[in-house]
Amino acid sequence: MSNNEKPGILPDRYGLGAAGMPYTSLSDYRPIPPNATGSLFLPDRLEKGYHVEELNDGVFYLTSGAYDCMFIATGNGVVAVDAPPLLGDNILRGIAEVTDEPVTHAIYSHWHADHIGAAGVFGQDVTVFAHEYTREMLERWPDMGRKNGIPLPTETISTSQSIAINGVTIDLDYKGVNHAPGNIFIYTPKQKVLAAIDIISPGWSAFKHCDASENIRGWAEAHDWILEYDFDAVVSGHVNRWGTREDALASRDYTWDIIDFAKQAFDEVDDFELVERIGFSNGWVLWEDYFNDMTNYVTKQTLTKTTDNGQTWAARLAGADVMTKYHAYSILEALRLEWGLLSKFERTITGD
Ligand SMILES: [Zn+2]
Repeated sequence: MSNNEKPGILPDRYGLGAAGMPYTSLSDYRPIPPNATGSLFLPDRLEKGYHVEELNDGVFYLTSGAYDCMFIATGNGVVAVDAPPLLGDNILRGIAEVTDEPVTHAIYSHWHADHIGAAGVFGQDVTVFAHEYTREMLERWPDMGRKNGIPLPTETISTSQSIAINGVTIDLDYKGVNHAPGNIFIYTPKQKVLAAIDIISPGWSAFKHCDASENIRGWAEAHDWILEYDFDAVVSGHVNRWGTREDALASRDYTWDIIDFAKQAFDEVDDFELVERIGFSNGWVLWEDYFNDMTNYVTKQTLTKTTDNGQTWAARLAGADVMTKYHAYSILEALRLEWGLLSKFERTITGD
């Protein structure tokens, strides 16, 4: 049966067949668990398009219901952490709702436009902290800014640095490449709030391809970096609520289950059979079938695994049935590029 005949499936609009991505519909996937909707259906978020709440002692969480950021009211000026375009001017509205203090400082977690593209709302006179790589990227591609443009970082760090703004201590930590080069963690030790952007998605599977990470192995390891902090809340940049230690543990375990199953796939999937059937005339078809077979193995094993709370990953994390295949693919590729694994057939060539 072709996609066109399958009920509930969108038609193959471009007639691409195997050359394109499959179309699906909502009914193909599991319903979202009630505890995964977070702030999405809160009356104030529905009315204003954002939700703001104090996490602890002047540290606030602000969300659009899809993108999150954080700000700190120091008593003599606000320190904004990131500025997602989907929040845009609502960042200033959310801040004005809880304090009269102006935004005097900003901190950028990393250079990706979906998290700092609205920083122009702070004006060009703010003091901006970021990793030196973030500044390098923003200088190289300044046209990604919206409104008045993204203010360039004025204070850059290369590893980790603790700063104090109006007496509020903020740790800016960089342990090496992770989701993106230069992606720093921002931690307020007194308030025990951590902003670690684009690593976990509380209650949910991460977005496609390990949250579109530039380095998969570093992204995976960063789950453990989160757990090294003593935090009561983690702001993660995505979905609709802030996260707990339990959320971080679940994301860590889910990620490392995918990695473990992906390592298994290198022994499970026999590419000798594929070489025999497909030959070498179109190497991309060979790789396509090899990766698809391994990806499907990893996806099946991961989604059906019973986790430590008795639920499968498919039931436990919202959207896992949508996204696991993309994480599986990215991790399989990373196992080749960043871990150095080879297929069975390749091992006969290298003698490994
Ligand atoms: Zn990012």
